[in-house]
Amino acid sequence: MQNYDVVVCGAGPSGTIAAAQLAQAGLKVALLEKQFLPRHKTCGGGMPMVMQSQLRDLAPEAFVESDVTMMRHTWKFEDAYLASMNPRSTDERLSLWMVQRSIFDHALAQRALDFGADLRDGIAVRAIEPESDGVIVRAQGIKTGSEFTAKARYVIGADGANGVTVKATQLRKKRAIALAMEIEHPHHWGDGHADLRPEIAHLEYGAVKRGYAWIFPKADHLNIGAGVFRPDNQDARSDRTLRAELQKTILDYMDVLGLKYDRDALKFHAHPLPTWSGKEPLHEGRILLVGDAAGLINPLFGDGILHAVKSGSIAAQSIIDGAAQEHTNRIHAEFAANFDAALNLARIFYQWTGVCYKYGVKYEKSTRYSTQLLCGDLLFTDMAGRAMRRLKRSVRGNFFPMFNG
Ligand SMILES: Cc1cc2nc3c(=O)[nH]c(=O)nc-3n(C[C@H](O)[C@H](O)[C@H](O)COP(=O)(O)OP(=O)(O)OC[C@H]3O[C@@H](n4cnc5c(N)ncnc54)[C@H](O)[C@@H]3O)c2cc1C
Repeated sequence: MQNYDVVVCGAGPSGTIAAAQLAQAGLKVALLEKQFLPRHKTCGGGMPMVMQSQLRDLAPEAFVESDVTMMRHTWKFEDAYLASMNPRSTDERLSLWMVQRSIFDHALAQRALDFGADLRDGIAVRAIEPESDGVIVRAQGIKTGSEFTAKARYVIGADGANGVTVKATQLRKKRAIALAMEIEHPHHWGDGHADLRPEIAHLEYGAVKRGYAWIFPKADHLNIGAGVFRPDNQDARSDRTLRAELQKTILDYMDVLGLKYDRDALKFHAHPLPTWSGKEPLHEGRILLVGDAAGLINPLFGDGILHAVKSGSIAAQSIIDGAAQEHTNRIHAEFAANFDAALNLARIFYQWTGVCYKYGVKYEKSTRYSTQLLCGDLLFTDMAGRAMRRLKRSVRGNFFPMFNG
């Protein structure tokens, strides 16, 4: 049996950041990843450029494929509205980086390795057994079947939406699990297209109910996807109707933009999205949850990479500080109020999407505000009241002009 200070389960953004920080602080860390790296991760791969502040020692050129500065919004594939994310050029950080997760996550895993983490890929954690003075982690090589057993003072559950760590605890029993799907469609920018540009992200709101669809530009392909962020069920993972709806939306999006494809060659990847559904404990004894395993996906936008990175760092720092029992409080201090406000907005947005498109999304300042919200420069707690007042004013003014003055 191997002994570690910390075993981190999962080498996505949350786990790799945590492992790097712990190793850099001199702790003995194992980073266990089920798949062989680099691996595909079902994701749009869009993240706010402020991510740079979390990864100062990594050159963005190594993984950023395009820098998006404009959003093209549509409602039911029509009524297009193109807007700059930084209209007055006041803040150059207001843009979105587009990455391929296979490359990005691999760079983060290598970084953890460079700091001294014991990175082991192709090894799946099967069981986690808490003991009074530590936690036993049992894992198995996915190809060799060989057993790996370790004992750690702490375990960080960074194993994503379907991870096993959470099952060893009584945590997150009532989880809200949404669903999203994507394909990677080869694209040559030199071919020219009226609407597709490497600096434009496309967002489509009416085609899928209680969610949205997107097209994100990458170096040699488009990431085309759709997600239902407020599904009718608590757990949308096995909802076949929903999967069919998402698939149809992706195909419709390609048709509308005149993209050519061979239907049989398309590879649809679907994955659950554990969205924030309110405050709950995120550690139990010596086991700390982060990223998707902790349900830290923004319930309005469905983004989770930056939150995964931030929460991985919070977990690592709590352990370094000798304050692991503060993990839940620290996560709540960072996310809870803001995500609660985002959840309130999401309930309205996905219920009244058409009205919100007309009076919210197409409002001249909205694209900039959305980018600031994604970056964390603007908080949903500050924004929610303003957005609701504006929406009410616009709707009242249009339907009941006599009340508008
Ligand atoms: C279709 C789709 C599109 C998305 N688009 C975006 C986007 O554009 N921007 C954004 O910010 N977010 C997006 N997200 C969300 C984002 O992908 C997640 O929030 C993010 O990946 C969470 O990171 P994580 O480290 O917590 O988990 P993950 O990235 O899921 O990493 C978990 C890791 O744990 C490993 N693992 C699982 N089980 C075990 C085990 N038993 N043993 C060892 N390892 C294990 C997995 O193989 C995986 O590598 C999207 C999600 C989906 C589904």
